[in-house]
Amino acid sequence: MINFQKARDRMVETQLAGRGISDQRVLDAMRKVPRHFFVDEALQEQAYSDHPLPIADKQTISQPYIVALMTEKLELQGHEKVLEIGTGSGYQAAILAELAQRVFSIERLPGLAYRANQALRKLGYTNVIVRVSDGTLGWPDEAPFDGIIVTAGAPKVPQPLVDQLAMGGRLVVPVGDRLSQSLMLVEHVPEGIRRTDLGGVRFVDLVGKWGWEE
Ligand code: SAH
Repeated sequence: MINFQKARDRMVETQLAGRGISDQRVLDAMRKVPRHFFVDEALQEQAYSDHPLPIADKQTISQPYIVALMTEKLELQGHEKVLEIGTGSGYQAAILAELAQRVFSIERLPGLAYRANQALRKLGYTNVIVRVSDGTLGWPDEAPFDGIIVTAGAPKVPQPLVDQLAMGGRLVVPVGDRLSQSLMLVEHVPEGIRRTDLGGVRFVDLVGKWGWEE
């Protein structure tokens, strides 16, 4: 039997804290959420390794460090309303559920959304709603959001997501070509919209009206 808690503690120390993730709440959430619960049984022993993992439908769950980095950039305190685009396995949504008040997550592939929702229910998360649609359009009925995180690579920053940012809100989105992207932080500040490049990343395609074509 693998001691998953021990594996998580080690992941947090070496891959996250050891590489500069310093938000204590983010580190605590990543120590707590059972990442292995969100992958196939055959991959569970790799769940805390330093790399992305395949999930169904040719999609991937990001490397733990990238999950932590993107989450940290949202600067969540606990009272926020957050939107995630690309539910995938549901792991990132669970991390957000630990750190914000309410999480709205959109997945375009129904099979993934269904499974992610099952996993989140089993773990007892009641503050996450998963829906199937084109996340590049955001979730206008629930806007504005204090934080928006896009976990797929976009050709450009989807304008509807910028429009759905609350004042002071933060959007984290990988933007670039299909092979590599820059992680962009887009902030809604009183002076307007501020964009910061956080460095190179590699994500699966964001597919939709403001994303790539299928
Ligand atoms: N955050 C996920 C990993 C996501 S992988 C996790 O923690 O496991 C990227 C996901 O984005 C895939 O599941 C893909 O189907 C989804 N996706 C791509 N384009 C999308 C869109 N326009 N709207 C919603 N989801 C999208």
